[in-house]
Amino acid sequence: MTTNFLQAPIAPVDEQALIKLCQQLIQTPSYTGQEKGVASLLKDTMLALGFDHVWIDDVGNVIGQIRGAMAGPSILFDGHIDTVEVSDQDKWSVAPFAGEIRDGHLYGRGATDMKCSIGAMIQGLAPLIAVKNTMAGSVFISGTVCEETFEGIALGKVIEAVQPDCVIIGEASGLSLKRGQRGRAEIAVTTLGKAAHSSNPAVGKNAVYMMMELVEKIRSLPVSQDSFLGDGILELTDIISTPYPGASVVPHRCRITFDRRTLVGESQDGVLEPIRQAIAELQAQDPSFAAEVAIVSASQECYTGAVLSGNRFFPAWVLEETHPLVDGALQALRQTGLNPSLTKYSFCTNGSTSAGVNQIPTIGFGPGREDGAHVVDENIEINQLVGAAVGYQAIAAKFLLK
Ligand SMILES: [Zn+2]
Repeated sequence: MTTNFLQAPIAPVDEQALIKLCQQLIQTPSYTGQEKGVASLLKDTMLALGFDHVWIDDVGNVIGQIRGAMAGPSILFDGHIDTVEVSDQDKWSVAPFAGEIRDGHLYGRGATDMKCSIGAMIQGLAPLIAVKNTMAGSVFISGTVCEETFEGIALGKVIEAVQPDCVIIGEASGLSLKRGQRGRAEIAVTTLGKAAHSSNPAVGKNAVYMMMELVEKIRSLPVSQDSFLGDGILELTDIISTPYPGASVVPHRCRITFDRRTLVGESQDGVLEPIRQAIAELQAQDPSFAAEVAIVSASQECYTGAVLSGNRFFPAWVLEETHPLVDGALQALRQTGLNPSLTKYSFCTNGSTSAGVNQIPTIGFGPGREDGAHVVDENIEINQLVGAAVGYQAIAAKFLLK
């Protein structure tokens, strides 16, 4: 699509400045836990543009505020600043950190997921600075760390500090408006057998055979369903036996991980219960059958030295179609000339915290194709970038300008 016709409500987006900022962001690698350079770049950029307050918090998130002259709501625009790694550079046709432009597309790791979205927030919202005296409330932009390994945990720190009334997640949506997503849980299941020499397996209990039985049972469990979000699927993602590698020994332990996509209202206990039940049924048949199930807990060290930790459980969320945030954002986007459809994200985002945990009205709107993340030759259409910047400005103007 072309975005040249779009009507920005306050001032046109400085397209050259936007592209330059996005190139600089791509040229500053920021793998998870290594976001320091990109956080500083964003801080300096917001300060230079005249944001009222810009700071980096203890876990390394960068936050900027434009404060209106009058009291009003706080709107938080969020994007994560970490990226997945480039593990297959030989497959790329461009240098992943060069920020090269080709045929109207900007290339590089993080172009779609999701540095350019933050660039669009900053350049799209900067014109609010000039009209602050007619603004009621505040706009915040957060560049959050460690989303790729721990979605939402770092955003929780921003929410504590900012106390927003609503949140706009800038993950790629192809400029459509998102009002929900499935959540995600990582579930570890372990069977506990008994080691023996593999020449005499009868005196042991093979934990892998036990796991085979249990997996078969778990796979036959009914799947939770939601007409808007989709299925609460459960997929096995890894398996390891102990000892590994094994030589002439019956494994006494076997551990698998399931990725469970969750629906609204599903709790940590709720997703574990059917698996506990399956274990109990096998125990009823064989009293020596022993197994454990739990949500995986993990920790992640931030570049500041702070440690984020918690269970890998990220709740689902849906905002009703008639909510004023959905309605107002749709109107604002249409007034610019955009024509957004109203759908859901197919992946998990920081919205799991803002909407799922903190119950703050949340929507998603961002540049780039949803399937354009984590891929070789990651790139974003510059028209999408401009469209997102205009869209962010329109949403902020709709709710804050008098
Ligand atoms: Zn992302």
